[in-house]
Amino acid sequence: MNLIVIPGGAFVENSYLLNDGISEELILIDPGSQINEIEEKIKKISFKKLVIINTHAHLDHVYGVQYFKKKYSAKFYIHEFEVPILNVMVEASNRFGLEEFSNPEIPNVDSFINDNEILSFGGFKFTSLLVPGHSPGSLCFYFSKQNNSNLENEFIICGDTVFAGSVGRVDLTGGTNMEDLVGNITNKIMNLPDETILFPGHGPETQIGIEKKSNPFLLGYI
Ligand SMILES: [Zn+2]
Ligand SMILES: [Zn+2]
Repeated sequence: MNLIVIPGGAFVENSYLLNDGISEELILIDPGSQINEIEEKIKKISFKKLVIINTHAHLDHVYGVQYFKKKYSAKFYIHEFEVPILNVMVEASNRFGLEEFSNPEIPNVDSFINDNEILSFGGFKFTSLLVPGHSPGSLCFYFSKQNNSNLENEFIICGDTVFAGSVGRVDLTGGTNMEDLVGNITNKIMNLPDETILFPGHGPETQIGIEKKSNPFLLGYI
């Protein structure tokens, strides 16, 4: 299995490249403004088809989508509730006023991902989990052993829902409130096995069991 994390940009956003090591399809998750760093890694992997899947549409996660979509004729997938956030990429860029986010191009969505869909990409089968609160269509992608018999560890690419020791902000575009976010994290993620690894949109990986015990935002809910 290949799972490469590529942190980059002003908000040190994590983009992920993954496939099962056999498939000729490569999954690119949340390509932000670290386009050069992602390109470097992609060049070293042999594949035939690239697919771009986003956890959500905040600019630091979506800025690079159009570049990779064009360059590799990649299809782009996201939850439909993120479209209003995609549509204000230019306004978000103006607000940040950072060179790395200049002239963003809004990518066309090729297909929408619903809650609880089984997706087949990159040689994996994985489940989409809608976990709103940070943004209305925030998706987590759950790679279970049940659906992938060769997997050593179960894992979730969880975007900006939950981080090591923290949770996503609710005061950005499309956010709701802490109670909503924490409730959704509790119901959709924290009921999965403790040893499941979480790969968040910012910062280091963690584990469900660790966050259950020590994440100050989740204590009291679980
Ligand atoms: Zn975000
Ligand atoms: Zn983010």
